[in-house]
Amino acid sequence: MDKMLENSPKQENTPKTGNKRYYYRKKYYQKNRNREDRPSQNIIKVNCKKVSILIPLLNEEESLKPLYAEIVKVIKTINCDYEIIFVDDGSTDKSLEIIKDIAKTDNKVKYISFKKNYGKSAALHFGFKYVTGDSVITMDADLQDDPEEIPNLLLKLDEGFDMVSGWKKLRFDPFIKKYSSRFFNYVTGVMSGIKIHDFNCGLKAYRKPVIENINVYGELHRYIPVLADWKGFLVTEIVVKHHPRRYGKTKFGISRFFKGFVDLITVLFTTRYIRRPMHLFGFLGFFTSLLGFVISGYLTYEKVFFDKPLSNRPLLFLGMLLIIVGVQFFAVGLLGEIMVHNFRNDEEFVIKDKK
Ligand code: UDP
Ligand code: MG
Repeated sequence: MDKMLENSPKQENTPKTGNKRYYYRKKYYQKNRNREDRPSQNIIKVNCKKVSILIPLLNEEESLKPLYAEIVKVIKTINCDYEIIFVDDGSTDKSLEIIKDIAKTDNKVKYISFKKNYGKSAALHFGFKYVTGDSVITMDADLQDDPEEIPNLLLKLDEGFDMVSGWKKLRFDPFIKKYSSRFFNYVTGVMSGIKIHDFNCGLKAYRKPVIENINVYGELHRYIPVLADWKGFLVTEIVVKHHPRRYGKTKFGISRFFKGFVDLITVLFTTRYIRRPMHLFGFLGFFTSLLGFVISGYLTYEKVFFDKPLSNRPLLFLGMLLIIVGVQFFAVGLLGEIMVHNFRNDEEFVIKDKK
């Protein structure tokens, strides 16, 4: 660099008279080129040896190079080593070629490419196995998540949290998505008891043990904070910058809303009741059959004491149905308990310390 500057033409190419603007611009350029090469004085200190930036992507060819450039720019202001891992989730455009080009020029860039599209959860799940950093940041590839938030997420982890989730407080998405998502986040918060505003933000930071202990399958990437919280990890959130999609279009249609709710039931069941199914099914069974018995008791009372015929009373069917359904709930609960008893899985326990 110095050599380049030494050799760089000084007075010779600078017009002696007239074009002042050219002269100043050149001087400014050289001054700044010099500055970029010097280590920045404002290095952000984080308590992390190596951070892995994990990026799942599907057909995001236009965004990849600007995203990479922005990440590198930000990450050089942090005092830790890094790697960038692109997980190509079966893209059919030029995404993979572009990633390969980037990886050729930078050995901190790695990539995995799926043969077909398996979904964002699968991409994250596989990527989590591949990371080598002690902290991990996930972010979307479409430039909606801002790499400038990387240091903020890491600094929040340093406050003692195991996972930090981004909160797109000011969100640039279509109206319907914004509001359906708000409702969905509210319900998830109430049902799971976790007090964060944005469960499905692509931008998140994790300490390594979190990603080693959660199982993101199906489309459960929407519920990672719930999965982490259930395992006993400390989860929090910070407000992050969000941008409108610059290129391409969203990969999740309106079906996300319906799938999301089915997944919520799965998550709540697998996190809360997987080791004690009878607490859920027994409870449901008890109340259903109790209601059935009350209805049938009332009908029996009226038949015995007031001789009211049962043949024209639709309530009779409801009473019978509730008792049968209640017994079925009980039976499912008992079967669940047998399965838990026989197939206990010690991997479910996260060990904090041992000697
Ligand atoms: N994505 C993926 N596999 C999929 C769908 C999406 O890897 O099957 C990636 C996508 O390329 C992007 C991120 O997941 O990097 C979030 O997707 P998108 O921006 O479409 O979701 P939205 O922001 O609309 O919720
Ligand atoms: Mg997006």
